Amino acid sequence: MVALINVSNRLPVTIANTIKPSSGGLVSALEGYRKTHDFMWVGWSGGPVDSPRRQRELAEELKSRFGYHPLFISQQDIEAYYTGFSNSSLWPLLHYLPSYSRFDHNWFEAYKKVNFVFAENIAELAEKDALVWVHDYHLMLLPRLLHELRPDLRIGYFLHTPFPSYEIFRCHPNRQELLEGLLGADLIGFHTSGYLRHFRSTVLRLLGRESRINTIAGKGHDVTIGVYPISIPTDKFLQKMTSAAYSRHLEEYRRAYAGKKVVIGVERLDYTKGVPRRLEAIEAFLKRTGRKDVVFIFINVPSRESVPAYQALRREIEHKVSRINGNFASIGNIPVHFIHQSVNFSRLCALYTLADVAMVTPLVDGMNLVAKEYLICKPDGDGVLILSEFAGAAQELPQASIVNPYDTAQMARALENALNRTPEERQKRLAPMRRRILRYNAQRWAGDFIADLAGVDKSVEKGA
Ligand code: UDP
Repeated sequence: MVALINVSNRLPVTIANTIKPSSGGLVSALEGYRKTHDFMWVGWSGGPVDSPRRQRELAEELKSRFGYHPLFISQQDIEAYYTGFSNSSLWPLLHYLPSYSRFDHNWFEAYKKVNFVFAENIAELAEKDALVWVHDYHLMLLPRLLHELRPDLRIGYFLHTPFPSYEIFRCHPNRQELLEGLLGADLIGFHTSGYLRHFRSTVLRLLGRESRINTIAGKGHDVTIGVYPISIPTDKFLQKMTSAAYSRHLEEYRRAYAGKKVVIGVERLDYTKGVPRRLEAIEAFLKRTGRKDVVFIFINVPSRESVPAYQALRREIEHKVSRINGNFASIGNIPVHFIHQSVNFSRLCALYTLADVAMVTPLVDGMNLVAKEYLICKPDGDGVLILSEFAGAAQELPQASIVNPYDTAQMARALENALNRTPEERQKRLAPMRRRILRYNAQRWAGDFIADLAGVDKSVEKGA
């Protein structure tokens, strides 16, 4: 049994009076692996826990119930490392939006400090030669820090966001340290070959280091790079669609929206998701067609509400929604249903099944799982996916109705076409996409990455 330590910014739990496990895609992707291997998950506890006694109790409970190792980070560090450096500096830049990106020297100091706390804890916990899988942009310095403490470990890093082109990445004042940090890994994974290509050219232009298609020669060791498009836990969705709760919700929604065409959008309320432009496209569509039989359901899950850019976005969306509803509603018909809350899993699956069309139109998105979830919840193949060409998912789903999210007129036309398609056309295009997702699901994604990490040849370690 090879020990695997999985590392993410946050543990998949919510800690209140009791500990509630959460069930994101990563949890499901690793479920099978955990059953057969020695497994541990390291991450921030997710909230301020100041009392050392409470920390000890929580750590014991998390370890014995789930195999999780929590890190307790002060509120002040979280504000600088997470809200500041990760979400206000790195996130916008990785998503091609330098104008949203803010820099503060103190944020970087906190980012270094927290990444070092992760490194120290893992170095102490890991058995000899263990695999360590680090996730995402909150922990870019961790691979190097950990490699220096424990060169025997096989360190994998997966970036869940895009990696932008050099011209964007170079805007970051700490670009060099960030890249050097990543290159401490033995294996670095990206969603698409485009992101991998950007990474290689950034490494060349910033650090002068040449690379091959799947390796970057390093000073101390070679780094393998690869493409692993993340997917969804298909069995979890298929199972939910056999539940009584799902059938009940679907029935409820079918009654509520009888005689209507339903178009959905599901996302965190985030400026990368292209919601304002989508609303402009909907406005243009309603103006042109005058249709009264179409309902738009927007599930916009609250996100990063302490960051000013997210507060401004919420105001902008609310303003646009109320303008559309003011102009196009009639007694008995409100076109846009804006829901600024999360919905539970069985309701979400029922909404996907109900929807005639899903509009997934981010300005940029590492992958976008909603696009894949919509398809899996359409077992009869009768639906249309309108998908931004700038979502990583577009690389895998060419049969979608691919749109440029900056072109509102094109999105409005795509919507009109989607609603006019025959059932045969809808099924013909959806079926191959659904097959692809069934074949390449989240378990397969995790399995491929872990297998490649386990296969890294440490004997090429220079000086080893
Ligand atoms: N989601 C959720 N609660 C909701 C609606 C959606 O947890 O009320 C989930 C959704 O099922 C999907 C995830 O949020 O798995 C969004 O992932 P995606 O890759 O689309 O975007 P991200 O939020 O990671 O940028």
